[in-house]
Amino acid sequence: MNNNINHPTISVDEIIRPTRVEVDLKILAENFKKIKEYAAPAKVMSVLKANAYGHGLVRVAQLMQELNADYLGVAVLEEGILLREQGITKPILVLGGIWGNQIPFFLKHDLTITASSIEKLKQIDELAAQMKKTAKVHLKIDTGIERIGVHYYNAEKFLEASLRYKNVIIEGIYSHFANSEKKNLSYTKLQLERFQEVLRFYEKRSLETPVRHFSNSGAILQMPEANFDMVRPGIILYGVYPSDEVKRTIEVKPALTWKSLVVYFKVVKAGHPVGYGSAWKSDRDTRAVTIPVGYGDGYLRSMSHKAEVLLNGKRYPVIGTISMDQIVVNIKSESAYNGDEVILIGSNDSSKITVEELAQWAGTIPYEILTNINTRVPRVYVD
Ligand SMILES: *Cc1c(COP(=O)(O)O)cnc(C)c1O
Repeated sequence: MNNNINHPTISVDEIIRPTRVEVDLKILAENFKKIKEYAAPAKVMSVLKANAYGHGLVRVAQLMQELNADYLGVAVLEEGILLREQGITKPILVLGGIWGNQIPFFLKHDLTITASSIEKLKQIDELAAQMKKTAKVHLKIDTGIERIGVHYYNAEKFLEASLRYKNVIIEGIYSHFANSEKKNLSYTKLQLERFQEVLRFYEKRSLETPVRHFSNSGAILQMPEANFDMVRPGIILYGVYPSDEVKRTIEVKPALTWKSLVVYFKVVKAGHPVGYGSAWKSDRDTRAVTIPVGYGDGYLRSMSHKAEVLLNGKRYPVIGTISMDQIVVNIKSESAYNGDEVILIGSNDSSKITVEELAQWAGTIPYEILTNINTRVPRVYVD
């Protein structure tokens, strides 16, 4: 229970901050199993970047290891090193681009490198030789998102070159979709065709094909023909769908609840403005409570004048501009007491507030809401 990377010296029982994120490990495990079953026989790389989409990197990685996920995916080197230091032994692919000085750290911690050019492969090979190690590499092909990777139309030379390096094992080859969560899948199909064309390289030369992977959540849900040898679920692992329009072919449930407690109650008099900028006031007396959460925790300021919370089973509006550390909730003529539970994301018996709603209030996507709940908010794990 006390594997909280954000407060490594404080056990959960000691955490006294009323604002906290609760992660239900049983729901996470169920989501993982459903995805695994649906995508079988493809292997599963659980994507854990950005603090496991806000759920807490180390504990979620431990769970994935217990569930025997085939691979773990992170975005940056430091996330991979932290997992190794915390005893995670599963293979870990760093999905992001690298620069040369980082390569020795990949080798030292047995992290799999994404290679996006011949030059990088050469550098990896040289450093691996120096360190008397064998580097594990996945080749990245850009089939139409223009971030990192060798363009599909230049891939043949890249694949040809990749066969030359003695200190590098080309374990995998992959690409990434730009629009797989959309209803219209024509661009996704085009990307798939481009990748298939690139892969013919191995067939034509009768070479063994490295582990092929392409599908993120959107494609796992909507395009099983892109599963190849492994899939890379991120957001659906956490029980959130990548868009409203995506086909919900796997039923997953949100694992994260964001909670706080009422710490203050008062009556706001008619005409007395609430918050910075005095942007809200009422023409009658109203009851209000203060909750110790704000944009400094990732409760985004752009949700001001739109956000609602659950208190004693009912929805109430957040009033005034969201501050760094506090919000004020209008409970009108109803009662609430210090210590009453407030739900910012999650459900109780009668109603719920979803990540999608927060995203709508903030003018963003669920991914950004989850990954912005920052490390000041303790993560508590329940099962
Ligand atoms: C983030 C990411 C994923 C997972 O994406 P979701 O939409 O969250 O499933 C998969 N592959 C790569 C390369 C990524 O960067």
